[in-house]
Amino acid sequence: MQDEHLSIFSVSQSFLPYIGGLARYVDALGKQFVKRGHQFQVAHFKTPQTDVIDFSGGIEIIRINVPKLGDETLSKYMQFKELVLKITHAEKTDDTSGYEEYLEVNAKIAADVADAYKYKPFDILNVHDFQTLPIGGMLKDAYGINVPMVFTWHVPFIAEIPQFWKDFFIKNMDRYDRVIFSIPEYSEAAIKCGLRADKICTLPPFLDTEGYLPQEPNKERAKYSIAQNDFLVACVSRMDPRKGQEILIDALDIIINKEKRTTVKCLFVGNGSFSKELLKKERSARVQILMDTVEAKGLQNNIFFTGKVEDSELYSVYQDCDVAVQPSLHEGFGLTVTEAMVFGKPVIGSNVGGIPIQIEDGVNGYLFEKGNVRELAQKLMNAMDEPQRRKEMGEKGKETVKNKFSSEMGYEQYIRIYREILQKRNPQPEQTEGT
Ligand code: UDP
Repeated sequence: MQDEHLSIFSVSQSFLPYIGGLARYVDALGKQFVKRGHQFQVAHFKTPQTDVIDFSGGIEIIRINVPKLGDETLSKYMQFKELVLKITHAEKTDDTSGYEEYLEVNAKIAADVADAYKYKPFDILNVHDFQTLPIGGMLKDAYGINVPMVFTWHVPFIAEIPQFWKDFFIKNMDRYDRVIFSIPEYSEAAIKCGLRADKICTLPPFLDTEGYLPQEPNKERAKYSIAQNDFLVACVSRMDPRKGQEILIDALDIIINKEKRTTVKCLFVGNGSFSKELLKKERSARVQILMDTVEAKGLQNNIFFTGKVEDSELYSVYQDCDVAVQPSLHEGFGLTVTEAMVFGKPVIGSNVGGIPIQIEDGVNGYLFEKGNVRELAQKLMNAMDEPQRRKEMGEKGKETVKNKFSSEMGYEQYIRIYREILQKRNPQPEQTEGT
């Protein structure tokens, strides 16, 4: 049983080539399973630009034609998704509109997953994140599929939520054999909301460290005419107000305009969300708002926006920067912090979600109170004045990733969970002496 190869079927809203924290996580996990001879399939929403079936490093990708449901249904589904994000990020709302469409989209995914199962049964279903939470229950109720099921929650989880949402989350999570959260705080909140403790596992996210390839030095600096001795700050994030990009702009305003440290430069990497791509919206309106703010402060020669970039360019940004900043107001885990550490860069991050699990203040970077512009400005200036310390912190960061957040470790934890469930469902007869 221990050596048996498994077939894993993952479901997530987004996957490659759309890149976000979730896609990187599932890809890193899948590569580890494939490397060890297991089968790993991923089903996710088809965008207009992608094929129905594809492969990525041995991972079979099945793209579900959700756009067929129409823009109106999808817009309402996204409205409900936004409400879920509000609730899980402590923003108040009593609105539940879009719930029906959310279920409709999930019913479509469940139907396709059921087809895939009938065609080629798998050993484990692993559903990722709230967008596809009802799939487990739907497969059981509508198709009688009772395969072992794991659900991984990727955003923050808090206990202080209205009853409708508690019922919605817990009722659906309860349909799975195990529910995985990224940090203890979220697991404890789920228990408070009524999820059985013996269903819960706490596993930090992880990265495919080998996938982050070194690039030709100073390529990104050259692209934006940033001199080699300019102090370069990198901020890689979705363009979402929860990521707090304005906090960093305000801190840079202090450093550059008030402290006159004009050789500080900053690259903001990222664009809108997967939802925008699904609805064929190219440019995030938020980028424009942030660019206007930068212009109003006269910082357009110091702060640049790259938009969404290819992986090789992303790696160049991490490699060329002196320090990375993650100024989130809310954060699930914050894989960009881990990524900067892979490149040996100190990270200055706010003390929210999974960021303090990764940054040890003064060891591999600095933590600051979320939203505290002055503290961020001060910590950035400290980092500017301590080149040797930055180097040491970067080395410590590399160790942090290797010891705590590598995909090899992620694989070990997931396979243990999968095997435990399978063993519980089909107990193997005890080996008796002489047999
Ligand atoms: N990312 C990227 N290109 C971009 C912006 C972000 O590849 O233009 C990636 C980033 O490298 C990281 C992920 O998107 O792997 C974001 O993960 P994180 O956990 O920080 O945030 P999320 O978007 O999942 O909340």
